[in-house]
Amino acid sequence: MVNKSKNRFDKFACACCGFFTISEIHDICDVCYWEEDIYQEEHIFDNGGSNKVCLADAKQNMINFGACEIEFINFVRVPTTDEQVTD
Ligand SMILES: [Zn+2]
Repeated sequence: MVNKSKNRFDKFACACCGFFTISEIHDICDVCYWEEDIYQEEHIFDNGGSNKVCLADAKQNMINFGACEIEFINFVRVPTTDEQVTD
């Protein structure tokens, strides 16, 4: 989080899906349901944090079925145009 830059809508990129959905630490991404967690983002194979799965698995899950965990597939949504803006 510390080294991340915000886009012009004042959002950080989600560590899991990469869309700009995050306003502050421990926000939950609406697009993939990953909870922002500094420890887990620095230790991508460690599942001991805010999220039950590690970041590496969460990213693979996002690719496989569109959410960081299978139980969240009904809670996520597609990214807005603003969330796809990187600058
Ligand atoms: Zn996300």
